[in-house]
Amino acid sequence: TSISVNEYLRDHIRTVPDWPAPGVQFRDITPLLQDPKVFRVMSDAFVHRYMEPRLRPDVVAGLDARGFILGAVVAHELNVGFVPIRKKGKLPFTTVEETYELEYGSATVELHTDAVKPGDRVLLIDDLIATGGTMMAGKKLLEKLGATVVEGAAIVDLPELGGSRLLRESGLPLFTLVDFA
Ligand code: AMP
Repeated sequence: TSISVNEYLRDHIRTVPDWPAPGVQFRDITPLLQDPKVFRVMSDAFVHRYMEPRLRPDVVAGLDARGFILGAVVAHELNVGFVPIRKKGKLPFTTVEETYELEYGSATVELHTDAVKPGDRVLLIDDLIATGGTMMAGKKLLEKLGATVVEGAAIVDLPELGGSRLLRESGLPLFTLVDFA
């Protein structure tokens, strides 16, 4: 018998209840990265999709911090550059920044002003989409610099939190591999 890529990957994502706060089901991708076969099946799914000429980006942008892991692999395999979108205070050069609301408080992300050029077609990558706030902030940063985000990609979507629907409604196509209810 065969199982789908979705089930295979799902079996290697660990759920940690009540972390980092009560009521949160944390979807931990470290077991998936730790197994070289699973890491390759996962990353190949993205590499193959974005190799296609219609979807091949000029640049891959990764969201701090787990988006750096997959984002760097995909950029390297596509032979395009990788740029990090970081939490405030980490990038040394001049930046643009975007603040967004969290359940409690707010967060700010930054991008170097020379990270992308006007007209660049960017693939935006994170590990997981929950409320969609992080990916939306990343998209706004890239657009401030005149780039176009051609697609957002993540390993996991939590559709019940509504983020992926909001992102799609805002005009951002999304590609994810595993849903958790
Ligand atoms: P959001 O901005 O609400 O879409 O949250 C997405 C970001 O927060 C990603 O960078 C995830 O790594 C992290 N995140 C949010 N919720 C979870 C969760 N339940 N499990 C793992 N990571 C999460």
